[in-house]
Amino acid sequence: MNNFLDLCRAAIGAPYVITNEADMAPYLTDWRRRFTGRAQAILRPGSVEEVAALVKLCSEARVPVVPQGGNTGLVLGSVPDDSGREVVLSLGRMNRIRAVDVINNTMTVDAGCILAQIQNAAAEAGRLFPLSLGAEGSCTIGGNLSTNAGGTGVLRYGNTRELCLGLEVVTPQGEIWNGLRGLRKDNTGYDLRDLFIGAEGTLGIITGAVIKLFPQPKAQLTALAAMQTTDNALALLTLAQQRCGATLTGFELMSQFCLELVAKHYPQMQLPFPQPYPQYVLLELSDSESEEHAMETLESLITSALEEDVIQDAVVAGSIAQSRALWDLREHITLAQADEGKNIKHDVSVPISRIGDFIRETDASLAEQFPGIQMVTFGHLGDGNLHYNVSPPVGVPADEFINRQHEVNQVVHDSVNSYNGSISAEHGLGALKREEVKQYKSDVEMRLMRTIKQALDPLQLMNPGKVL
Ligand SMILES: Cc1cc2nc3c(=O)[nH]c(=O)nc-3n(C[C@H](O)[C@H](O)[C@H](O)COP(=O)(O)OP(=O)(O)OC[C@H]3O[C@@H](n4cnc5c(N)ncnc54)[C@H](O)[C@@H]3O)c2cc1C
Repeated sequence: MNNFLDLCRAAIGAPYVITNEADMAPYLTDWRRRFTGRAQAILRPGSVEEVAALVKLCSEARVPVVPQGGNTGLVLGSVPDDSGREVVLSLGRMNRIRAVDVINNTMTVDAGCILAQIQNAAAEAGRLFPLSLGAEGSCTIGGNLSTNAGGTGVLRYGNTRELCLGLEVVTPQGEIWNGLRGLRKDNTGYDLRDLFIGAEGTLGIITGAVIKLFPQPKAQLTALAAMQTTDNALALLTLAQQRCGATLTGFELMSQFCLELVAKHYPQMQLPFPQPYPQYVLLELSDSESEEHAMETLESLITSALEEDVIQDAVVAGSIAQSRALWDLREHITLAQADEGKNIKHDVSVPISRIGDFIRETDASLAEQFPGIQMVTFGHLGDGNLHYNVSPPVGVPADEFINRQHEVNQVVHDSVNSYNGSISAEHGLGALKREEVKQYKSDVEMRLMRTIKQALDPLQLMNPGKVL
C-alpha cells in the first residue's frame, strides 16, 4: 500500500497526495453530513496526464477510485465507502478555462472549473452559460456532467447533457480519450460522450469538456400568478409556451402550504396578494429583443390567462429587487421546511401532462396511509420535475415519522412508476438509491447497464458501489 502511495507522490508531487486525517476530512463527508467514509489518500492531480498516470497506478494496484468535484452531490456518490481501501481523486486543481470561441458559441474547460467561474467567464465574453443551480458557487462542471445536473434553466436550455458538445475522459485503464469536438453534428458511430454524462464517475473520469454558450438575453422578467389547481397551472404552461415560445425560461409551481411555511419562518417575505390561493406559478421570461418587448409579451399572456379564468391574480416584478423577492419565495421553501423540522424528500419526474393526476392520486394514497401527513409540493413544473416532499402530521414526533421513510418512499415511488416516471429526476442514484432503483427498472435495462460497466471497467475500480 505504501509503495502505491509513493508511486502516486512520484507521479503528481508529494503535497498533492493527502494522507493526514484532518486534511482528508472535508473530502470524506457528504454535503448533507449523513455519511463519513474512509480513504487511503486524497489525490489532487493538476493535469489530464497526471490523472491518467494515477488511474494507471490504481489499476495496477487494484485500488478503487472515487472521483470528486465540489462534493455537493446529494446521493452519496462522491464520498468513499468505509473500507479505507479507496482513494478520492479530486479534480479541484484542474480549474482552467482552456478556450472560448464566441463564433462557435463554445467554451473548452477543465473538469474542475467551478460552475460560477464558467458562468462569469461566459458573461465576460458576452455570452451566457445557462446552467444554474443552488450549489453553483462550489459544484464543478465535471460533477455537473457526471450527474447530468438540471437546475433552473432546463425548460429552455435542457439538462447539462444538452449543454455539452465534447468530452475528454481518462478511461479506467488510464488512457486519455480526447473527444473535445465542438460540433453540433457528428454521426460517426456510438455517442461515447453520452455514456460518460450522467454515469456518476462509474465509467471513467471526465477531465475536460466543450460546453455550449448562448447569446445574453437583453431583458429578464419575473411574474407570480395565483390559481386554483395544478390543472390550471398546466393550462397556463401551455398558454405561456404558445405566447412566449423560447423566451419562457422558468416555470415553477408552489402550493399555498409551501408559501405559508416561508411566511411563517421568514416573516419579512410575504405574498404579494391580498388573499391566499391554492397554487402559484413563478414565471420567468428571457427576451433577446428588449425590456419593452418582454413586458408586452408577459402582460398579454397574463391578460389572456385572467380572461380565460386560468389564473385569478398575478403580479409582474417591476425591478430587479422585486424579481429577487419573488425568487426568494421559491428558494426559501426548502429552508422553511427544514426550519419546521425533519422531513422526507422526493425528487421525481412524470410526464408534464400527468402532473395534476399524479399529485391528486399520490396525495390521496399518502393521506389514507398516514393520516394528517403534510404535503410540501413544489418544483420545476415546466420540466415535469417535482420536489414532492412530506412533513410529519401535526403532533407526530419527527423521528417516529422518519422511521417510516421506507413506507412513505414506497407509496410515492410506486405511484411515480405507475406514471412511467423517474424516482430520481435530478440528483442521480449514487449509493443512496442504488438498491431502490432495481424495483423500477426492468431486468433488460439493468442487464444492459451492467454490460456497459463490465465492458468499460472490468476490474470494477471506478466508483464501485455507486449507481449499480
Ligand atoms: C444547495 C444545493 C442545490 C442543488 N441544486 C441542484 C439542482 O437544482 N439540480 C441538480 O441537478 N442538482 C442540484 N444539486 C446537486 C449537486 O449540486 C449536483 O449534483 C452537482 O452537479 C454536483 O457537482 P459536484 O462538482 O459537487 O460533484 P460531486 O458531488 O463531487 O460528485 C457528484 C458525482 O459525480 C462524480 N464526479 C464528480 N466529478 C467527476 C469527474 N470529473 N469525472 C467523473 N465523475 C465525477 C462523483 O463521483 C459523484 O458520483 C444541488 C446541491 C446542493 C448542495
